[in-house]
Amino acid sequence: MSQNTSPTFIAFVASLVAAFLSSLGLGILTLNIAAVIINFIAVLVVCYLVFSYLLKAFIHDRIKLIYKNIYRFKTESGKGYGVLDEKERDPIGAVGKEVVEWMIESRKEVKELKQQENFRREFLGNVSHELKTPIQNIQGYIHTLLDGALDDKKVNRIFLNKAAKSTDRLVEMVNDLTSISTLEDSSSLDIKDVDLLKLTQDVFEMAEDQAKLKEITLAFNKNNPKSVVVKADLAKVRQVLVNLIVNAIKYGKKGGKVTVRFFDMDKNILTEIADNGFGIEAEHLPRLFERFYRTDAGRSRDQGGTGLGLAIVKHIIESHNQTINVRSTIGVGSTFAFTLKKG
Ligand code: ADP
Repeated sequence: MSQNTSPTFIAFVASLVAAFLSSLGLGILTLNIAAVIINFIAVLVVCYLVFSYLLKAFIHDRIKLIYKNIYRFKTESGKGYGVLDEKERDPIGAVGKEVVEWMIESRKEVKELKQQENFRREFLGNVSHELKTPIQNIQGYIHTLLDGALDDKKVNRIFLNKAAKSTDRLVEMVNDLTSISTLEDSSSLDIKDVDLLKLTQDVFEMAEDQAKLKEITLAFNKNNPKSVVVKADLAKVRQVLVNLIVNAIKYGKKGGKVTVRFFDMDKNILTEIADNGFGIEAEHLPRLFERFYRTDAGRSRDQGGTGLGLAIVKHIIESHNQTINVRSTIGVGSTFAFTLKKG
């Protein structure tokens, strides 16, 4: 039977068959054409009315209940009720369509849940792995000191300094983890007009000492747009600039330069942070913004890196519904570019 067969059509065909058979019987018995015609019409009409009523009552009412239940499960709150149109010609088809839609949605949800579960597992694994190294270092140095090294003037300060360095790393990592979890918790941004030029200047001042240690110059490009005011969350954009500028210094070469450039892009302001440092190999670029991803774990840890800085940056820019990307050439340097809506 065709998928589009409606209860009324079924009732009509069944009534036609009943009218034909009963008229045939009557015709054979009475040989009266008038009686056969009257019987045919009467049986057709009565059967059609009865069949269509019964079919509708039977199918429609039951399907209506199924439809309602499907709809209730489909709606997130579980409180909604779907109402099957009384005039729906094909209630079974309508329910079939709902079931297929429901199945697709459920599959999507299951896939997302599985991805989240994998992500959670991977994240927990990464966190414990990253915390383990400094904790084991601290444990090792303290036990060595307690076992006698404390009285050895040649090494006691060295071990204490190393333990203190590992403690700093732990604090830095916990701070970054806290940032990530608060970013995830708070969907609300405190959007105001933010002057990127002024903010970058503040960040330059904050990073001045670090830059001096590597003899790195912090500069703006010469031709800035007249205004670089954007609509953004000041504290969060500050964190973006801090993370990108500090990275540019950390991974920049001695005596190098970090340049911040602004471009007017009609509705947005594009900000670029460019360094002329080590650069990043192309194979790493697609994964650079993932949590704990480092191109060179050893070197990054030596620089005091947690591998969370760029993940935080991406999170912040995307929460403003904007984008961030990176381009880089080994030995030439890297440029991180993000957009923000003009103020
Ligand atoms: P980290 O705390 O390790 O610096 P990030 O998330 O900030 O973590 O950066 C991830 C990795 O990306 C770094 O470990 C480093 O390998 C690479 N990276 C980030 N910024 C730069 C840059 N400006 N130049 C070269 N490599 C960079």
